[in-house]
Amino acid sequence: MTREIFFHYNYIGEIAGLIIAGLMLLIMLYSKPKDTFVYKYIFYGTILSIVSILVHISIIFVANNPENYYNKYIFMAQLMLFLIVYMGILYCIFSYVNMMSIVRRKQRKEFLIMYGIMTLVYLLGVVIEIAASGLYKLGIEGIDIRHFTRYYCCAGIVCTIFCFNATLSNKNSVSRVIKHSVFAIAPLILTLLIAQIVILSRFNTIFTALTYVPVFLLGYMLFHSNPYDEVTGAQGSHALNAYMHKNLGKRKIYVSYVKLTYPGVENLVYDRDDLILKGIAACRSVESISNKVKIFRVSEDKYVNIIETDKESEFLNFANQIRGVFDAAKTEVSIPINYIIVSGKVDESFDEPLKCRQFYEYISRKFKDLNSSHFYLVKPTDYSDFMEDYEITKALEDIRNRLDLDDDRIVVYAQPIYSVDTGSFRVAEALTRLKLGDKIINPDKFIPIAENSGTIHAVTCIVLNKVCRVIESIENYYDFDAISINVSSKEISQNNAHIELFEIINNYEFDTSKIRLEITESAMFENFDVANENMKFLSRAGIQFYLDDFGTGYSSLERVMECPFRTIKFDKTLLYKSLDDNRMDDIMTYMIEVFKKNGFVTLVEGVEDESQSQYSLEHGFDYIQGYHYAKPEPIEGVKKYFNRKTKF
Ligand code: C2E
Ligand code: CA
Ligand code: CA
Repeated sequence: MTREIFFHYNYIGEIAGLIIAGLMLLIMLYSKPKDTFVYKYIFYGTILSIVSILVHISIIFVANNPENYYNKYIFMAQLMLFLIVYMGILYCIFSYVNMMSIVRRKQRKEFLIMYGIMTLVYLLGVVIEIAASGLYKLGIEGIDIRHFTRYYCCAGIVCTIFCFNATLSNKNSVSRVIKHSVFAIAPLILTLLIAQIVILSRFNTIFTALTYVPVFLLGYMLFHSNPYDEVTGAQGSHALNAYMHKNLGKRKIYVSYVKLTYPGVENLVYDRDDLILKGIAACRSVESISNKVKIFRVSEDKYVNIIETDKESEFLNFANQIRGVFDAAKTEVSIPINYIIVSGKVDESFDEPLKCRQFYEYISRKFKDLNSSHFYLVKPTDYSDFMEDYEITKALEDIRNRLDLDDDRIVVYAQPIYSVDTGSFRVAEALTRLKLGDKIINPDKFIPIAENSGTIHAVTCIVLNKVCRVIESIENYYDFDAISINVSSKEISQNNAHIELFEIINNYEFDTSKIRLEITESAMFENFDVANENMKFLSRAGIQFYLDDFGTGYSSLERVMECPFRTIKFDKTLLYKSLDDNRMDDIMTYMIEVFKKNGFVTLVEGVEDESQSQYSLEHGFDYIQGYHYAKPEPIEGVKKYFNRKTKF
């Protein structure tokens, strides 16, 4: 006898959901990073989705083929299992939406209580539903599971409303992207759930998987596969790069670059959470200025705001509002925090994002005083200054990467130094220039860049090698004591730099003492013990040290004395002041005397005219360096200042 079954359910929607969730799980297994906050919710949510769909399909399968598979107890168990897994899914979604706000995330206890209550209500509902209805029996018209579906759809509706409400009431602590997604997706899900209830009673079609799988998919797309920062809701540096690639050179781009600084932070045990919270609060407030302001968080403490407008006045207005946001953020934090904001139009000549980033970095580095905040509007000259800087940096990096000790972009000059004792030139100082095309860049410009970009050591090695070559070529024919080279403060306090310098000198046959090294006082600050050790090592090998620019630093003389310096180079400012001021003159006289008494050699720099020369001679300096005696010139020409050796 064939019996007509009324309830035959169509579950194509569930199959679709299963396929999507399966694919997502696969992608997630291979995606990185896995330890983000978002990932966990989405990952477990996806697994739960797969389980729930499988269980649901099995329920429908039994309902569609009751005569073969129906067993009251097993069927009940299937229903229970589904309801529990579904609850898990709702929790995942609810937590996910709520926890996206870091403020909420801290209220864990409240959440636990809420979950407790929700669970009780839900489970109670389940028990009542199953016990009271008694509907899941095999009837003559098949199995009616509509009641059960209606029940959990209602739970889904409640959860959606909760999520919507949580986002609405938490508007200011959730990011724009979350707000937009929740506001767009929640009504859609609600409609789907209601449609499910209605359609089910008419057409027996089930597609509830399509109300939760897409939620996880969306979350995954927005926050995991896409560059939204999960904490701040701002996009990250990849997104900024993509944005720049797309727009650079095609339209006007106004940028407000924000760098947060923490004055004296090394002395503070600061509350990182507090900082993050404030950073986030600032992000939110910047976002709410206007839809035209797009915020990118490019590192822990750097933000780039793109202001999408063509009008300069509008840009200025937004830039000022952004400043206002950070001013407000400053006052709310328990730790001192400052900002450097650089705003302006991105120059048309910038064709790559990297250049752009370096430009803003370059400008922000100009503000050295971290004890106050800075707001700066870019000027046209900044671009040309930067371009020079940029080219220098690139050339230096290239020089470092090739490390050709004969690189001809490093040009070595030398300035002979007059020895009062012998009345002749016996030493010279090597001074470096950088050749960029046909431009010659002075050291005052490129040495600081080399120091900041970590390329200074390569420069020193090349200079040293070139100086060694010249010494080798002239030492048999000319009578001189040494040529000194400048070593940057940063290098001498590095662990292996001195050994590399020593190896270069050792490649040559001449006596090591023909090379001397000049180090400024500031070097002593960086890492005194290491610097001192390294100097002692080289000193034992016969290399003399000059204390350069004496009188410009602030280091304690006592410490300086611990280092193996032989010669003190008095900075020209000391000389000029002493000529003007009697008290300075007294101090100078006294210092020269003390140094000499303690066995130091004294040298004065910057002697430009007769009166300065006279002063230097009268005060008993051992050596005099300055334009008055000789100017720096390409090092190959310096030999003419030395006496020829007579034996040839
Ligand atoms: P410095 O070590 O104090 O070098 C002396 C500077 O004073 C040189 O400038 C020299 O040309 C200049 N000078 C010489 N005589 C006079 C004078 O009578 N009056 C005046 N006003 N200046 C005079 P230069 O060559 O432009 O070098 C500037 C600075 O750049 C150097 O100051 C040194 O600190 C740094 N520097 C140069 N070459 C190198 C290098 O290879 N490595 C490192 N680390 N620093 C270098
Ligand atoms: Ca020097
Ligand atoms: Ca000097």
